[in-house]
Amino acid sequence: MEQNTIDASRALNYEEPLLWEHEQADGGGVDFPAPKNTSLRTGQPAREKIGLANLKEPQVLRHFVRLSTKNFSIDHGFFPLGSCTMKHNPRLNEKMARLSGFANIHPLQPACTSQGALELMYELQSWLGELTGLHGVCLTPAAGAHGELAGLMTIKRAHELNGQSHRKVILCPDSAHGTNPATAAMCGYELRVIPTKETGCVTLENFKAALGDGKDVAGMMVTNPNTCGLFETEIAACAKLLHEAGGYFYCDGANFNALVGNVKPADFGVDVMHINLHKTFSTPHGGGGPGSGPICVAETLKPYLPVPCVVKTEEGYKLETIDDRPTSFGKLKGFQGQFGMFVRALTYMMSHGREGLKQVSEDAVLNANYIQASLGGDYHVPFANRTCMHECLLTDKIQKEAGVTTIDIAKTLVEYGIHPMTVYFPLVVQGAMLIEPTETESKETIDRFIAVMKKIASDTRAGETGQFHENPISTPRRRLDEVRAARQPVLKAGS
Ligand SMILES: *Cc1c(COP(=O)(O)O)cnc(C)c1O
Repeated sequence: MEQNTIDASRALNYEEPLLWEHEQADGGGVDFPAPKNTSLRTGQPAREKIGLANLKEPQVLRHFVRLSTKNFSIDHGFFPLGSCTMKHNPRLNEKMARLSGFANIHPLQPACTSQGALELMYELQSWLGELTGLHGVCLTPAAGAHGELAGLMTIKRAHELNGQSHRKVILCPDSAHGTNPATAAMCGYELRVIPTKETGCVTLENFKAALGDGKDVAGMMVTNPNTCGLFETEIAACAKLLHEAGGYFYCDGANFNALVGNVKPADFGVDVMHINLHKTFSTPHGGGGPGSGPICVAETLKPYLPVPCVVKTEEGYKLETIDDRPTSFGKLKGFQGQFGMFVRALTYMMSHGREGLKQVSEDAVLNANYIQASLGGDYHVPFANRTCMHECLLTDKIQKEAGVTTIDIAKTLVEYGIHPMTVYFPLVVQGAMLIEPTETESKETIDRFIAVMKKIASDTRAGETGQFHENPISTPRRRLDEVRAARQPVLKAGS
């Protein structure tokens, strides 16, 4: 028998070996004999065997199709992964992105034959500028983290051209997403941490202490609302001091779903911000599609943005080159960025309109607060005196006394067909569970999640905790050693 199902009660749930483990001695694939008497004319070293599995086409096809069915996605069920904004991807977006005029153009086509696509990008730049209040927009970065890099390089270029190269420090709270300090380090900056443990926020007092006289500070990187799900109430005052000291405010825009349509980040002092189109603006995420992380900057930083931005000229729309804007820090990405994502994001914006986008963030915030209020008695809420924004933060403090921890709770959700929330992040809160329902979930779905979480809490109170350490029990794999899997991945049979 070629395939074994995992267990008889789930008949079509296949165990899926690696391609190499499928391989049979007689093989099935085609190997062409090596060509005789031909030398390589391009001067590269002779090819070695690369060891592809020797299989027939249907075997390979089934392998990948079966693997694809094992991927839990937003189209399967509730996916409340905090900080990731796993919202429904409207099918209208997909329909628009597949229009042949958009789907079949080539980036090397002359601009005069792709005016529609360029106009679409120009329009998207305008929407993003309007929604953030930051009107210099470059669409090219390929993800949020790439946007961070683009943003900091823009700031760095501005300092360099203004005789401020001695500014070497980036201020960043300890609750930051890992990409923030990583980006600062990649840009050659030194990190100075703003502690936030007590309130979950950047206080003016802690900010002042980190800023010092500010002479060596290039800027700060802050997420607002932050990764504790809280709006940074003192951020405008911090931004004012930062500006007076000559620094720029980089806002990590991953949490823009809490603000979109209601608050313009420029109004609380932001100079640069990346937008995750694949979060706030519903383009597919993770395994579902490439990311896209446009950056928006204030007028003062516009000259230093990467190229190309789309500009409108007398002859029509065009992608800039470095000759058009020599103050730019340069090019960051091939061509114009993830065009298919631009189509999807603009479709989403236009189908919601101004009022619709405002309601997006209001509903996202309402849903998160509904969860926080419903689970507040059963789970510890670290910053309980505040309403949350679009995600709520709980911890395992109460359950831990009975030996049930965040990982047990997360793995138990899997048994109920719910994707776990973000766990153990942000790091400033012990046993964190960061839950982001988004605006696209129904009340029924959210109520079911609340009921499951309440059941876990009540079973724990009743001392029925043994089950939690075993979960998940009905998945193809049980609990993996995730650290080892990440550090020493086994990608090939026998290695
Ligand atoms: C998702 C996220 C990022 C990085 O975005 P990618 O598109 O995954 O690179 C940065 N900061 C925060 C707070 C995020 O949630």
